[in-house]
Amino acid sequence: MSTPYDWIDRSLDSIHKANWYRSTQTVSSKAGAIANIDGREMLMFASNNYLGLAGDRRLIDAAIAATERYGTGSTGSRLVTGHLALHEELETAIADLKNTEAALVFSSGYLANLGTISAIAGQRDLILGDEYNHSCLKKGALMSGATAIDYRHVDLDDLATKLKQHRGNYRRCLITTDSVFSMDGDLAPLQAIMDLAATYECMVLVDEAHGTGIFGDRGGGLTNALGIQQDLIQVGTLSKALGSLGGYVAGSAKLIDYLRNRAATWIYTTGLSPADTGAAMTAVTIVKSDHERRQQLWQNVAMVKQGLQNLGMSAIAFDSPIIAIAVGDIPETMHIAKHLRDHGIFAPAIRPPTVPTARIRITLMATHTKEQIQALLACLAQKA
Ligand code: PMP
Repeated sequence: MSTPYDWIDRSLDSIHKANWYRSTQTVSSKAGAIANIDGREMLMFASNNYLGLAGDRRLIDAAIAATERYGTGSTGSRLVTGHLALHEELETAIADLKNTEAALVFSSGYLANLGTISAIAGQRDLILGDEYNHSCLKKGALMSGATAIDYRHVDLDDLATKLKQHRGNYRRCLITTDSVFSMDGDLAPLQAIMDLAATYECMVLVDEAHGTGIFGDRGGGLTNALGIQQDLIQVGTLSKALGSLGGYVAGSAKLIDYLRNRAATWIYTTGLSPADTGAAMTAVTIVKSDHERRQQLWQNVAMVKQGLQNLGMSAIAFDSPIIAIAVGDIPETMHIAKHLRDHGIFAPAIRPPTVPTARIRITLMATHTKEQIQALLACLAQKA
């Protein structure tokens, strides 16, 4: 007998047939450079834990202390019962980190982008986004009801052409871009985007998910490192270099006040948990002052760059801890990912349709040792 849910079987079948089926791997160890994955110890080269803070004793203690003080849940929406003194402290600390007037913490970076974009753009507006922007920027644009047009990846000429062509037909315009692109690890030309935005009277939203904690003297992100002065909307996550969970928006006090009244993904969801908030608060304090940790991460990036060049291997960029190594076509890339896995190295193959070209995508951490990076390079050398 057929049921209204039979389509799920058919859809799963077609996902399998297209070779797009995804499954999870179970981690059963504390976040760090070595992980127990599906019962096996592996060297971790795929984590967003760039500064190694997710397993740091100080963050664990802060999460415990916040839980002791406030309990396990924040018990309601921020506008009802879920607005904790700790949220306010974290928002003040993030505004200071980003050098903005104010900040607002969401339950994830994904929700921060959905809520912000859908609150600041509507049907009469235009959103121009880099084609490689993260899913949440694209879904936020859809949710807003604005006309959303992609420009070619980091292509300022294409952005300028599209602004010239379309800007006049819309009330407001928003340009969106990741600061560090999550699959390629390259950087957006932020200052030039700001200049175009000024010419065409556009707002700019930059997603610093992979930039926060990594760039800038105090880890304030790429916008801070470049010294961008113009008004802009900065979004980010607490879940990568900051080692916790949650997202943020930083900008003018008026913007934040407006989002508190209009961002559905902030208003209608429970406030961030005390444990996540406490851990993030400690992480922000650490990244502002722990320059050595950031330097160690950049030294690790330099070591991988040198090592790959010695092997005659190329990567899309060496601009961030995300290094997308081009090793060949899809079968070759899958073969090398398996070789790495067989030798205890966790570094996944990423292939079309997720990205245009197959690559081994590694992410580096400040807490990787020289020996661990040498092990990765030695394993790659067997296939160079
Ligand atoms: N933006 C970018 C560029 C990301 O890579 C991610 C996470 N993969 C997010 C936003 C979402 O952040 P979160 O994991 O906090 O939801």
